[in-house]
Parts: sequence; structure tokens; C-alpha cells
Amino acid sequence: MGNRGMEELIPLVNKLQDAFSSIGQSCHLDLPQIAVVGGQSAGKSSVLENFVGRDFLPRGSGIVTRRPLILQLIFSKTEYAEFLHCKSKKFTDFDEVRQEIEAETDRVTGTNKGISPVPINLRVYSPHVLNLTLIDLPGITKVPVGDQPPDIEYQIKDMILQFISRESSLILAVTPANMDLANSDALKLAKEVDPQGLRTIGVITKLDLMDEGTDARDVLENKLLPLRRGYIGVVNRSQKDIEGKKDIRAALAAERKFFLSHPAYRHMADRMGTPHLQKTLNQQLTNHIRESLPTLRSKLQSQLLSLEKEVEEYKNFRPDDPTRKTKALLQMVQQFGVDFEKRIEGSGDQVDTLELSGGARINRIFHERFPFELVKMEFDEKDLRREISYAIKNIHGVRTGLFTPDLAFEAIVKKQVVKLKEPCLKCVDLVIQELISTVRQCTSKLSSYPRLREETERIVTTYIREREGRTKDQILLLIDIEQSYINTNHEDFIGFANAQQRSTQLNKKRAIPNQGEILVLGIPSQVIRRGWLTINNISLMKGGSKEYWFVLTAESLSWYKDEEEKEKKYMLPLDNLKIRDVEKGFMSNKHVFAIFNTEQRNVYKDLRQIELACDSQEDVDSWKASFLRAGVYPEKDQGRGTWDGNRSAQLTLDLPNRCPRPPPSAPARPFF
Ligand code: GDP
Ligand code: MG
Repeated sequence: MGNRGMEELIPLVNKLQDAFSSIGQSCHLDLPQIAVVGGQSAGKSSVLENFVGRDFLPRGSGIVTRRPLILQLIFSKTEYAEFLHCKSKKFTDFDEVRQEIEAETDRVTGTNKGISPVPINLRVYSPHVLNLTLIDLPGITKVPVGDQPPDIEYQIKDMILQFISRESSLILAVTPANMDLANSDALKLAKEVDPQGLRTIGVITKLDLMDEGTDARDVLENKLLPLRRGYIGVVNRSQKDIEGKKDIRAALAAERKFFLSHPAYRHMADRMGTPHLQKTLNQQLTNHIRESLPTLRSKLQSQLLSLEKEVEEYKNFRPDDPTRKTKALLQMVQQFGVDFEKRIEGSGDQVDTLELSGGARINRIFHERFPFELVKMEFDEKDLRREISYAIKNIHGVRTGLFTPDLAFEAIVKKQVVKLKEPCLKCVDLVIQELISTVRQCTSKLSSYPRLREETERIVTTYIREREGRTKDQILLLIDIEQSYINTNHEDFIGFANAQQRSTQLNKKRAIPNQGEILVLGIPSQVIRRGWLTINNISLMKGGSKEYWFVLTAESLSWYKDEEEKEKKYMLPLDNLKIRDVEKGFMSNKHVFAIFNTEQRNVYKDLRQIELACDSQEDVDSWKASFLRAGVYPEKDQGRGTWDGNRSAQLTLDLPNRCPRPPPSAPARPFF
């Protein structure tokens, strides 16, 4: 490598690495690095120590490496080491380096052998090394087949995946030669994140421990399980060598001799061994950094821009100037007010495209959750009829009545009206929750002034709580008012005479309670909603699930191949359909609900129900609300009460424009 500029690349990334480490998580870039992975005792630490020519890594049985070690090797005339967490100290004794790694590991994980993904940063300066940055990771632990693996094995795997799944990192997959390559934990894991083997470099250790007469020639010639970057074989010091304090220099000489004298490796001895591995890694990492530079540059620039913007915001905050102090305080409080209003009232600038704002969430509570809660109010027809008959009998007393008394009607209706209280109060609770979490989001800008933040939150939250009390009182009052006088003269009221007529009318034309209670009658295919859904339970032969483009109207649910709505797969009339929840599958991260026929008919082909899957519970709720508008209601508590009963009861008691679709077959029976 004659190019000086290229040699600067690894140190340059090291500088970035340190800068990012010192400012913590707030800035993060995936820097090009080499992650060392392999099973326990595969020889990972030995390879790293051989590079440096020193013993400095903790050894022992069990899980020794319990935090990632970011090891920066830097070519230098003098030899010493330093840690990022105690930069002032120069270590020249490598036994002390090992002790410091052990102590620093325990500092974060505790002494009870836990693991932590927070890395330790170690930098080793030495005349023997080439510039290189490697991450030593905990060894992959073996899970015996059929055994329930303990938690820590999952944690380790997770942590390793966290590092190697970054496209920016090369993977050094270490496999001992005395095990079957096909069973290599390192290669298996690497394959999960790099299936084509583009950024994986294979290292085969313990070549000296292979059985007499066997060799790893095929592997090392990259013929057995080919990787684009190939394999390099090494011979590290054995346990005996280490105990006998065999000098690493002598070990390197022995390694060289091993390859030169071995009949299977002699012809490729120049491409084997620790020094060659080190050189190759240095080149590959350098090239890799060069290739990543454009992306790295643009990411850095965008971070720089956003940081500069932040700096701009703090420019006027001069905490030492008393007049500035008041101004800054006022500015922050004012900003809080503006932010809060924006999040609730909505605004055109800086629209968040990642998540719903407080205001939009509150909108959903009113238009999706609340109507749903209303329908969920359950009552059992049998109970209701019994109550009615008791009411009538009690009103007549000792006499036998001739006409149904109005008093009985009032008594029953009043009982139903009271039931509105619960969903209404719940709605208030949900809105309050949303408001308070919005306050929290807005005060996060004040996090540099914890007391100001705390006080702001306290004052605003107290105010919201106080309003909550008043709102609830007001709602209860309204319901009490509704309850105290039932205006049977109102045009919305379905009296005895109107009920029959209206129910036949509704059979033909459907009422869709829309946002703002618009009564839409007789518009045949008013589209209520369009969107992608996955049918979860179509025939297993076809893979069990498939995405379709769904169109829900007041009449039917249709699904198409895609948004173009050209290729229609099926159209399902909404008559007699209902919704039920489906428990989330163990393996699936989808949220599912099902549509089924109340008359025990198949809804689609041989399916009793079709299961529809969305990515989030929010989507499910919102689809359910749309179905509600189409008159497809959730299943009531199973086992008691029939849908028929509920529906006819609703027909009589609800306001007409809230009415669900009545069944075409059974006309509603009025109670009175
Ligand atoms: P790690 O758990 O992957 O870090 O593995 P270590 O580097 O700690 O090595 C585990 C054991 O294997 C140690 O006793 C090493 O001396 C031994 N070892 C590692 N590489 C070789 C090798 O190439 N040949 C021999 N004979 N022993 C090795
Ligand atoms: Mg190790």
C-alpha cells in the first residue's frame, strides 16, 4: 500500500469512533469495523492477541468476554495501550490491561456474569501492528438440541446480531479446524445477516489439532463453503503454550514453520498465518472504508446540519446574563405553548410523518374508539324482556292492565341511558392520557433545565386534571338531563307506530353513521375505506396468507389483487357479518381480526371466517371502526344473548342514524 491517504483511513474512522463514543448515544453512525464472531473457545481472543503480540485479554472457562471490546490497533513506534474510559492513563504493562478490561466489564455488568452490549474501547499502539479496528464479541454458546436454552444464550446471539447485521461491518467468522465447517456457529450466524457471504471473512484456527491424516485444504482453498473474501488458516498458541508462557514471537515463527512444512498447505503458505491475516484485514477494512465513505459523508453532513440547528436554538441562551435569563425562560415557556398547540391543533410546518400527533390521536379516540365503545355496551335480550315484564307488572300492581304503561317504557329506557356514562367517561380518560403524554413530549425540549421541565409539567398537568373533573361533571349532567325527560315527541323518536315501518325501510336502505352523524341513505356503493390487508388463513397450500387490496362499502367487502382495482378476487356482501378478535399468533407480529357469518355459513370458499391481519393494533382498531360504519358489528360476549336480540333492541332504543343494519330476514320486534 503505497498510498499515504489510504493509510489514514482507519485512523480517521478511529477518531470518529472516539468522538461518537464520548458524546454518547445522541449521535450514532455505523462506522466500518470488523466484528469477530465464533463459538466459545474457537480462538477469537488468541487471534487478536497474536496480532498485538501480547497477552492482554481475559481468559478462562465459561463466558469470559461479556461486553463487546472495540479494539483499535494503531501502528506506532512506542508500545502502550489506553482506554477511552480512562484516557489519561497510559498502560505499558499488558497484565494491567487485562485487569482493567475485567474490572470495567464488571463495572457495567456486575460481578454475576451478566452481559452488556455497552462496548469497552481499547486502543493499542504498537510497532508490531497494522492499523485495524476489531470488535471482540462474546462467544456464541452452544445450545444442546432439544434443551431449552437459558436466557443468556439468546442475549448473546442478539448482541452479536446487533453488531454484524450492520451493513457497515465486516464479519470475521472464526471456526476451529477440529470441528465440521458445516456446523460452524460463526458461519451460521454470519449467513443469517450476510446470506451471500459478501462481507464475511473466514478464519480457521487450530489447524494443528486436526486428526492425523485429515486437513482443511478444501476449506482454505475456498472450495467447500465458498466466501467471496475467502478463508485464512492460523495456528495460535495452545493452552499448554500459554501456561508455559510461550512468547508470541516464537509462536508466530512456529506457525510459519507449520504451514511451510505441511504437505497440504505448503503451496499456499504465503496466504496463511497470522501476519497474512492481519495484512488482509488491514487492506479489506481500508477498502471497505473507502467504499463506505460517500454514505458516511452524507450521513455525517446531515447530522452536522441538525446539530447546527440545535446550536442555533441555544445561541440566545446565556445563562450568566440576568436579563438574558428571564428572556430565555420566557422564550422556552412560549415555545412550549406553541409546540403544544401545534401537536393538538395540527399545523402545516414540520409535519411528523413517523407517528400520529396528539391531536390526530384524539381525533381517533372520538371517531374510532368511542363509537366502538358505544356498540360494545352489552345487554342481554332475555334479561331486558324480563325486566320489562316485571316493570309492567309492578306498575299495574294488584290490577291487571289493559294497555302497556308509559311508565314501564321510561323505567327501562332510563336504565339504558345510564349505561352511556361508562363509555363517555372512558373516552374522557383516553383524551386526558393523550393530552398528558403530549405535554411530556413538548417538555422534552426543556430537558437541559430539569426543574423548569418538572414545574412546567406539574402546572400544565394540574390544569388538565382540574378540567378533567369539570368535563366529567358536565358529561354526567348531560346524561342526567337526557335521562330525566324522554321526549317522545321528537322526530328522531321511533314510536310504536313508526318502528315497523322504519325497520322495513332500513332493510332496503342503510344508515351509515358517518363522522359528524351524516345520515347517508340509499347510496349504493359509498366507499368507506380502502387499504391493504392480509388474509391470514387462506389455504395452507398457498402459503397460508396473502395480501390483497380491500374495498369496504356500505354493502360489501371486496378484495382485489392491487390498488388498481382491476382484478377483483371476491366480493362479500355484508349481510349477517360480524367481527371477532383473533388472538395474535405466537410467531407472528401481525394483529388479526376475523369476519364471520352469524348464521353459521361459510363466508368465503370453505372458510367459516376470514382472518384479516394488519401490522399494528391501531390499524386493527381503525379497520374495526370502519366496519362499524358499514354496519358490521363486533361479536358480543359469547355464550349469552343472541345478536338478534341485541340488534332489535338497539333498533328500538338507539337514535335512528346510529342504527346498525337490521337483518333482512327478521324484522325488528319493538318492545312496546
Ligand atoms: P475464544 O473463546 O474464542 O476467545 O478462544 P480463545 O482464544 O480463548 O482460545 C480457547 C482455547 O483454545 C485456548 O486454550 C487456546 O490456547 C486454544 N487455541 C486457540 N487457537 C488455537 C490453535 O490454533 N491451536 C491450538 N492448539 N490451540 C488453540
Ligand atoms: Mg475470548
